[in-house]
Amino acid sequence: MATSPTAVTAVAFPVQRAARPRRALAAGLEFLEASAEPGWSVCGVRTWFEEHLVEPGHMRAPVVLSEPGAGRVSLLESDAETLTSSSNLLRIVTGARNRIIAALRGLNASPTDDRFLSAAIFAGRVQRLRGRSESHWVPQPEPTAPLSGIVLSLFAVDVLSHRDEYEERLSVCDICDRITFQDGALRRKSCPDHLPPLSGMSRRAMPSGRKNLS
Ligand SMILES: [Zn+2]
Repeated sequence: MATSPTAVTAVAFPVQRAARPRRALAAGLEFLEASAEPGWSVCGVRTWFEEHLVEPGHMRAPVVLSEPGAGRVSLLESDAETLTSSSNLLRIVTGARNRIIAALRGLNASPTDDRFLSAAIFAGRVQRLRGRSESHWVPQPEPTAPLSGIVLSLFAVDVLSHRDEYEERLSVCDICDRITFQDGALRRKSCPDHLPPLSGMSRRAMPSGRKNLS
């Protein structure tokens, strides 16, 4: 049967091969998506922490967010209106986002730069829990860690648990910084919206269904 070996199977989320849900990855990707929007509010950031880190028991709710070179911002409800300027939050979130993207891009660099993994382990922001039959990694960032360090602990958990997937399929788009998992070496630096032109072809996207590449 004819298949479509070149069909774009790109998704932000990789194929689920493991039984354990990849909550850390989902949380990390959600952070990157939300932080790309200029209007992410203190309330929104707090909800993200609550849902992905505090409620599952990975950390206490941070009172203050900080990012090296970008300052600090209070997450306290009482302070949020008066003391926190939205430009401050934007600066911190953007600074963290840039550091996270750069760290993930390092995984695709040659030679590979995965120092954020050892940094997360060394800082105790990820822990290996040993069960009876298997062990798994969990995030355990301290509430005073820089925002980028907290989010990178989520990615570190997923990389440590699914290293092969990152080696084979991680893509960090050079144009829009989007993180996706895709098949094909040519797609390590592009998202589905910014695929490099195929040599000898001007069409960017191929229609599904019948194709006749004569
Ligand atoms: Zn892109």
